[in-house]
Amino acid sequence: MHVMDVYDGLRGHFSRQVWWTKRHFFHPREFEICVGAILTQNTNWKNVEKALENMSERKLISPESIAKADVKKLEDAVRPSGFYRQKAERLRLFSEFVMSLGSFDEFAEKVTREQLLGLKGLGPETADSILLYALGRPVFVIDAYTKRIFRRLGFRPFNSYEDWRNFFEQNVPRDRYVYMEFHALIVELAKHFCRPKPLCPDCPLAGDCAKKI
Ligand code: SF4
Repeated sequence: MHVMDVYDGLRGHFSRQVWWTKRHFFHPREFEICVGAILTQNTNWKNVEKALENMSERKLISPESIAKADVKKLEDAVRPSGFYRQKAERLRLFSEFVMSLGSFDEFAEKVTREQLLGLKGLGPETADSILLYALGRPVFVIDAYTKRIFRRLGFRPFNSYEDWRNFFEQNVPRDRYVYMEFHALIVELAKHFCRPKPLCPDCPLAGDCAKKI
């Protein structure tokens, strides 16, 4: 089975995933995607949405406002996403970094993956989510769902995040929309079928899966 057979199988089953806008210019929404990528660490998306709502109500969805915000006000806004002190600090450091490049547009154009990985609290999954979904760079995002599903399907497991990422980037056409869609489809499969206790009989990939129960 080829990686793209998995993509085709998932596209044939799930409706098109739209987690992102297809705008080709930068907009405050792209900064919000960066904030969401940081807040979603170790929590679910519902909690992130509550935190984003608080931030929006308190006018804290811009690098300028976060960098200047009162620490307690920012911590209180992000509290629903858990680890609120740590996340508030990460958002502040990230926002200060964006501002140090001049503006969000400058950041979007110039930032490198290495620079993002150098920021406190930004691991490869968060950095790559920002690069792909907010900045539209063709970088494949690897998460725990991706590893679980591809191990179960019978693909050779890799030891490191970078090896997993290279594997996908070498086997999936280099197109940011395909990368976005593929990752979104993987999350759908993990939520609906390939759960910790998998629901194999109804899974759209059951016919080709090594683990199938
Ligand atoms: S058949 Fe089962 S183990 Fe294989 S991908 Fe589907 S849910 Fe996961």
